[in-house]
Amino acid sequence: MSFNTSFAGPPKPSHLMTATELYASAGTDFSQLNWIELQWARWYLFCGNPILATGLASFLMHEIVYFGRCIPWIIIDAMPYFRKWKLQPNKIPTPQEQWECTKQVLFSHFTVEAPAILLFHPAAEMFGMATWQVPFPSWKAMLPQLAWFFFFEDFFHFVAHQALHTPLLYKHIHKIHHKYSAPFGLAAEYAHPLEVFILGMGTILGPIIYCAYRGDLHIFTVYIWITLRLFQAIDAHSGYDFPWSLQHILPFWAGAEHHDFHHMAFINNFSTSFRWWDRIFGTDDRYRVYHSRMRASMAAARAKGLSLDDMRELERKMIEEAEKEGVEAEKRVESLAEKRD
Ligand SMILES: [Zn+2]
Ligand SMILES: [Zn+2]
Repeated sequence: MSFNTSFAGPPKPSHLMTATELYASAGTDFSQLNWIELQWARWYLFCGNPILATGLASFLMHEIVYFGRCIPWIIIDAMPYFRKWKLQPNKIPTPQEQWECTKQVLFSHFTVEAPAILLFHPAAEMFGMATWQVPFPSWKAMLPQLAWFFFFEDFFHFVAHQALHTPLLYKHIHKIHHKYSAPFGLAAEYAHPLEVFILGMGTILGPIIYCAYRGDLHIFTVYIWITLRLFQAIDAHSGYDFPWSLQHILPFWAGAEHHDFHHMAFINNFSTSFRWWDRIFGTDDRYRVYHSRMRASMAAARAKGLSLDDMRELERKMIEEAEKEGVEAEKRVESLAEKRD
């Protein structure tokens, strides 16, 4: 294939150049690129304006990954076979609930996320992030960057999420996200626009800080990060814990089992990806008591020879109890907010 990269005329500042001019001025050798790098360059050449190309690609990527990752969970919710792995088996989201949630999420994607994503290109370039450039960095360069983004986001979220549980911020912002005490994949980004913005900072600031200090970051690596982060968030809200879920392979991975408890009991487990901050700061104490009680009750029931149905009934009762305590805890926070308003 060949690209028309001829460029003539007085030099322009790079932010005013078209993609064709940028590739020509960088002396990009298209014959050395792999398939995905070629598609990347084609997209920038097709759009012409790099700001538009990055903005559109980022928004489309976010929508495709978000809803694409939710589809398997919608199918799983519709199949009774999977109920045995549902963390709160008494609460299956109805198609109506899922549709209402989808509409709300789409509304916030177009009103809050789309403008933020469009502004991201100029911000990224200001900090020296590569966007249109090809080839991409190597995996060796990307892996430590991705590890940093995970680490930063997890800690940022741990702190900001606890702030969102203070009475006034809870009442005016975070309450929307807690609408579902038994969450499902689509509910991952079901939140107040301000919450989407605040917690979204945790996702974006990691790459920006890295770029400001190191300056060798490509937006392609950021796309991989955002894809992984969306998978993490949607899976954490899925409501299912399978024997093959990541947390059973990596014990410090939070997963659905960790975050589902946060929605059910309203307290504890503020992190996103990892369990370590909640463990270190003791914000998983009630969660651990709940699980050890559940394990002990199940072991005692098994020893007594209780049938599977009776054990499920016992599990259901314990879940309901924890949820009731959660409702009480939420009421306490809301009444504090009433007093301060
Ligand atoms: Zn919360
Ligand atoms: Zn949540």
